[in-house]
Amino acid sequence: MNQLAIFDCDGTLVDSHALVGSCAQVGKRVHLSAAAQLGGVLEPVGASPVIVEDDVLIGGAHSAYLDGGPGRNRLVGGTPDADPERNRNVFVVGAGGLGCPLLLYLAAAGVGTIGIIDDDNVDISNLQRQILFDIKDAGSSKARAAKAHLETLNPDISITCFAERLDASNALEIMGGYDVIVDGTDNFSTKFLINDAAVKLGKPVVYGSILGFEGHASVFWAKEGPCYRCLYPAPPSSYVPNCAEAGVIGALAGIVGSVQAMEVIKLVVGGEALRPLIGTLWITDARTMQTSNFLVPKNSACPVCSKAPEDIILKDEAQSCSAAVRDVSIDGVGDHALFVDVREKDEWNAGHIEGAVHLPLSALMAGEKAELTKASEYVVYCAKGVRSRKAIELLEAQGIHGALNLKGGYDGLRKS
Ligand SMILES: [Zn+2]
Repeated sequence: MNQLAIFDCDGTLVDSHALVGSCAQVGKRVHLSAAAQLGGVLEPVGASPVIVEDDVLIGGAHSAYLDGGPGRNRLVGGTPDADPERNRNVFVVGAGGLGCPLLLYLAAAGVGTIGIIDDDNVDISNLQRQILFDIKDAGSSKARAAKAHLETLNPDISITCFAERLDASNALEIMGGYDVIVDGTDNFSTKFLINDAAVKLGKPVVYGSILGFEGHASVFWAKEGPCYRCLYPAPPSSYVPNCAEAGVIGALAGIVGSVQAMEVIKLVVGGEALRPLIGTLWITDARTMQTSNFLVPKNSACPVCSKAPEDIILKDEAQSCSAAVRDVSIDGVGDHALFVDVREKDEWNAGHIEGAVHLPLSALMAGEKAELTKASEYVVYCAKGVRSRKAIELLEAQGIHGALNLKGGYDGLRKS
């Protein structure tokens, strides 16, 4: 049972036991909220009341309800005469650390149609943050496993899965079938691709990202505010580790994924009182739990949203991001190559390529000089082929040119 509270324009509590519809009796600007659940005084937010009681959510400008009755677990947005399909189809890119918690909330809330794309398989080492999966899913397609679990959670919604990678060739066709796009990815190339395709299609993107102890969320929607490229015009020129490499506490992925789910539900429900993070970047630091909102202005010279949709050309940024570093598969390594293992000591001790030289990335980053014996080619590897890219950049800076990156890293060799 949700307890209701009504605040007037000054943030003063008017009534904490109001019934649905009582805002009309108050007769002034009010904000009704489930204050007892949220545990804090809420700011008055304007003329449109929002009422939450049990599993019924009624918005001001657009009424909406979540009917939790048997067989009716669907979230419905829009006024009765509005487009009944308004913003109800949600497409989630990535069923990883962010995608798992947000998908659970979207399915549980009854978002009627959900699409999921992920070309990766479930890996036991990621279960600390990919809470939608369990040990039995190991090795299965994440997109298919996500669909199976979510259908168990809510059989009344429609879920489509795409066990493939979103790229420049399929993004418009797949994303075009949905109203709200959710970015649950952990790599820059896909984030830029999602943005560019969404701007071209005129769709909002609910953005999230996590690294170390920091989490970010926003809603980028070029029709209403800035796009992702208004904030970051191009991918970073140097390597930035992803979650698997840099590590992240699963609970932080849960926090940011939940914020994203909240933003999706706000877009689905609509109403003036619900203000999505359009033009606002929400940042939290899990070390202190300090949270800040930053205004993101629309950039009139933005490389994407300043263009006409037909002039926006999609491209896979991965090639341009990694142009300086060449990948090599184990089959392509020459007979006299010298392997350089840049993993840390405990990883090296647990197993390494015979004849390899151990040169931890942490030592290179601390400025240690790489003293490598002369070889026809250097092949650098880490666990997954990501830290090694940074190591190659550092070797370049030391004058060791042209080192190759072992694709898939040491973990890839063990799997093959
Ligand atoms: Zn822009």
